[in-house]
Amino acid sequence: MLAAPSTGLKSGPRSTLGIDTKSLHRNPTKSARQKDRSSMGDKKMRYGLQRVAQSLLFDHTAEKQHRVCNCCRSTNGNGVDIFRTKDGKNARFGNLVKCGSVWHCAVCAGVVTEERRGEVQAGMNAWAKQGGNVYLMTLTFPHTIAQGLGDVLPLYAKAEQTFKNSKTFKAAREQHDWAGTIRGLEVTFGRNGWHPHTHVMIFAKDGMLDDTGTVDALRSAWIAALIKHGLAENSQLNDMMQHAFDLQGGDYAAEYIAKFGHEPKLISTWGAAREVTKGHSKIGLSNINGNTHATPFMLLAWYEQGDTEAGAKFVEYAKAFEGRRMLTWSPGLKAKLLPNEAERTDEELAAMEAELPEEELAATLEGDEWNLVLSRNARGELLQIAAQYGAEGVKALLEELRERKATHSGRHWAKRMFGGGDTTCH
Ligand SMILES: [Zn+2]
Repeated sequence: MLAAPSTGLKSGPRSTLGIDTKSLHRNPTKSARQKDRSSMGDKKMRYGLQRVAQSLLFDHTAEKQHRVCNCCRSTNGNGVDIFRTKDGKNARFGNLVKCGSVWHCAVCAGVVTEERRGEVQAGMNAWAKQGGNVYLMTLTFPHTIAQGLGDVLPLYAKAEQTFKNSKTFKAAREQHDWAGTIRGLEVTFGRNGWHPHTHVMIFAKDGMLDDTGTVDALRSAWIAALIKHGLAENSQLNDMMQHAFDLQGGDYAAEYIAKFGHEPKLISTWGAAREVTKGHSKIGLSNINGNTHATPFMLLAWYEQGDTEAGAKFVEYAKAFEGRRMLTWSPGLKAKLLPNEAERTDEELAAMEAELPEEELAATLEGDEWNLVLSRNARGELLQIAAQYGAEGVKALLEELRERKATHSGRHWAKRMFGGGDTTCH
């Protein structure tokens, strides 16, 4: 069944199918909004954020563009397939080129982090079966608003290396029978500037937290590494003793990995922001309250709402994080815990987006139809409507898009699509 037809929106374009596409965009009821925060709402948001990153990272003067610029725009084959589940709850594209960049692309990050989370979870389960415990060590440093991310990140990586090579670290590893570690790198932005930090999951035997001598020694070794690489001074010792190092037991590691790659806060802020008139609410970096930190994708959402400073911060972050690894298993740990797990790159994971359960092909868009969708910046909307209304909804939306004005950036992109197989976005 299709949606109930128009509710008096006489000016709305009507498709030949008799579906008033405006009825597909009625003000959502409370329950519909709640639904929107589920899978399709999340996907739509990710396409929106990816589009913002594409416009920010596109460089008119460059010969080769950042790979996110082309993600989910160019095709691998003839036309763009749209698959949907029979229950109308989910949809996905087929045949699209993926970038696989977890730092820059909200669409690929969604797919890749979910796969990586599953691997870590499986590793933790395997270790628990062997009677082991997983600790969560969190490392950071006292940062200020004046520090550029491109300057501090290389120093931070050096401090981590010094810490890992320290006698203290090696002694703890020996003493508590570590099977290995998984290091997760993250960054947020707050009132005190960039906040890079690492969460290190330590696969060890029970009892490490009881060994306060080892915990204190690790804390001191981390602080010494920060001072050595100029990320802190002796005068900040008290502050660092309290905030730069933390070691927690198993539940914390489980909680960390359960939330890995999820941005629930972003989804709710983004959703709320979309409901107010664009430009009405400028959140602004200066309005970050207390210790609240923004994730990089949140910066994109703010930029889209008119906060240019947030856009500049995202560009700074994008450059600094290029080529860095998000999750790093120490050598041999994955083979030990998950001997049958194939080693796959982020690019491979992003490309092999899983088929949906009981999916069906809803439509295949030709080049000019896909161009239309790109020029109206409507990929997320198309997926949402394809999920809910299937082939007829897709047709109706295409009709409506023809009536809609192309966005400036949309026109810019459309010109470059299907232009002789060019896979860069210049
Ligand atoms: Zn991507």
